[in-house]
Amino acid sequence: MAEIKAEKWALVTGGSRGIGRAIAMELARKHGLNIVLNYASNTEAAEQTAKALKELGVQVHLAPFDVKDAALVTEGIDNWRKAFPDARLEVVVNNAGITRDNLMVFMQPEQWHTVINTHLNGFFNVTTAVLQGLVRQRYGRIINVVSLSGTKGVPGQTNYSAAKAGIIGATRSLAQEVAKRNITVNAIAPGFIESDMTKDLDQAMLKQLIPMARFGTPEEVAAVAGFLASPESAYITGEVIHVNGGMHS
Ligand code: NAP
Repeated sequence: MAEIKAEKWALVTGGSRGIGRAIAMELARKHGLNIVLNYASNTEAAEQTAKALKELGVQVHLAPFDVKDAALVTEGIDNWRKAFPDARLEVVVNNAGITRDNLMVFMQPEQWHTVINTHLNGFFNVTTAVLQGLVRQRYGRIINVVSLSGTKGVPGQTNYSAAKAGIIGATRSLAQEVAKRNITVNAIAPGFIESDMTKDLDQAMLKQLIPMARFGTPEEVAAVAGFLASPESAYITGEVIHVNGGMHS
């Protein structure tokens, strides 16, 4: 196990389940980072993940807040700061996400806005809440979980594709704004990954479209986050790393 660096923390949004859970585990296991574990409402899953993280020897702060709501984001992060006044946040993973798929011709305003607000505005709310601190300490790793949908486009996901493509653009711009401060900003674009988000999809049909003929695992995405969080990735910024079994556009 990595040496535990007691004061170093990572914030993982949507860390209770799926890809976010695997990323939190990887950051704890590989880098000994303590974890601010954000989620929306599934307390049971968050507590199970917190238990698994603590078994790796790191501290965990459960931070239930809706990334769509800027005031709740600020309050949630302030609560963590009050509980751990000596904490130094080094890694921020914008991972929280949902889908509300529909063909554009049938898409309801609520489906469009909820997805844009969760992903794109969630990225804004969380990143702006922590960015000054990263700039001041002249070090940081911002990792945004986007999607193949944001690069290739997927029918039925204009809302989700637009949100993810927006985050990719923001990743590239922000990377240039903060590069001199030793802060890297990168995105990971998974293809089809096994999680609650994809459990109702027709895997047999979709596998035929994937060169590797299988869905990826959350751990395969988390391995890239582990690398992007490491000192070895210091010269990589503004990049989108695809984890999709060869299913490029
Ligand atoms: P998941 O298993 O459904 O987990 C979603 C996580 O996001 C949960 O922790 C959930 O919290 C949290 N969340 C949802 N809305 C939130 C909100 N408004 N505020 C705070 N937390 C919120 O999804 P996943 O498959 O791991 O997806 C994780 C990320 O990867 C998403 O950004 C998704 O778009 C992206 N992605 C996934 C795939 C895939 O194939 N699975 C492919 C490409 C990209 P609760 O547990 O409280 O509900």
